[in-house]
Amino acid sequence: MLRDPFGREITYVRISVTDRCDFRCVYCMAEHMTFLPKRELLTLEELVRLADVFIELGVRKIRLTGGEPLVRRNIMYLIEELGARVKAGRLDELTITTNGSQLPRYAAAIAQAGVRRINISLDTLDPAKFEAITRWGKFDRVMAGIEAAKAAGLSIKINMVALKGFNEDEFDRMIAWCGAEGFDLTLIETMPMGEVDVDRTDQYLPLSLVRARLEKRWTLTDIPDRTGGPARYVRIEETGRRLGFITPLSHNFCESCNRVRVTCTGTMYMCLGQEDKAELREALRASESNELVRQAILEGIARKPKGHDFVIDRRHRRPAVARHMSVTGG
Ligand code: SAM
Ligand code: SF4
Repeated sequence: MLRDPFGREITYVRISVTDRCDFRCVYCMAEHMTFLPKRELLTLEELVRLADVFIELGVRKIRLTGGEPLVRRNIMYLIEELGARVKAGRLDELTITTNGSQLPRYAAAIAQAGVRRINISLDTLDPAKFEAITRWGKFDRVMAGIEAAKAAGLSIKINMVALKGFNEDEFDRMIAWCGAEGFDLTLIETMPMGEVDVDRTDQYLPLSLVRARLEKRWTLTDIPDRTGGPARYVRIEETGRRLGFITPLSHNFCESCNRVRVTCTGTMYMCLGQEDKAELREALRASESNELVRQAILEGIARKPKGHDFVIDRRHRRPAVARHMSVTGG
């Protein structure tokens, strides 16, 4: 089993399968990004091997993220392999976080592979604003993707980054739309990760403020959090759907943290908000046996920090963590 020095059991791994993306969301990426050369990436077969080692060590849930996971070539191979582990009872859950652009193509196959729930990022329901915030995204395509996922029977959670002056007038509309569609919704506070072209101190909107505003219109009932993640959940009585608040800048979730993140190059980050890491790629490639990589994972977990130090640096306007969100995955 994977237990860190603070007694937290690690049962959840988020794997970023690519740093590339077909969008350029302003809070996530600069318009001109330099991506990793393909040879640096773990192959899909190596990702399966790595997942198997984590599963042997007690991991029960895997999330595929990115970059945009569904733009990686042949991604269905990985989804089908990991889905087979869910069907065999070796994993409780395989989930995906996606921008939705490739769902018209893949939603049915994803559901068939054994995925039951996906997160789809959607910051606005206004097509012009959507195209402004994602820079390269096509609103109609994403809406078609969401429809395809719904038709395939996937449970959908919408991820909406709360951005001051951009979508703060849209929360009511998004809640109502999600209620009508049968989707859960999670609001995410902006995190200062990676150099992007905008000034984050202008975008930062504390969710405590958002919640106070929402309570004027909706009845929010706290529900206990069983995910071990940074989200706090409420039920919206009027719609019956769940609403999550992800507030990474507050420290209150670190003590229940049950996860680590692995990048597409096989670097394991024990905390989203810290620089310490463990390199797993060389251990994977050094031998056919999984013993070295198992050791490398155990050593990394033994260094998992107690918590993060996210701070938006107002004086220097520099990100608190230099790597982009698309490297570690959201
Ligand atoms: N491309 C996929 C997507 O957009 O859903 C998966 C990767 S994306 C990095 C995962 C999540 O992180 C998205 O919901 C995105 O909105 C969020 N995200 C990206 N940069 C962020 C930032 N600086 N602060 C908060 N959330 C961010
Ligand atoms: Fe791409 Fe997701 Fe980042 Fe947007 S948030 S640029 S869709 S990785």
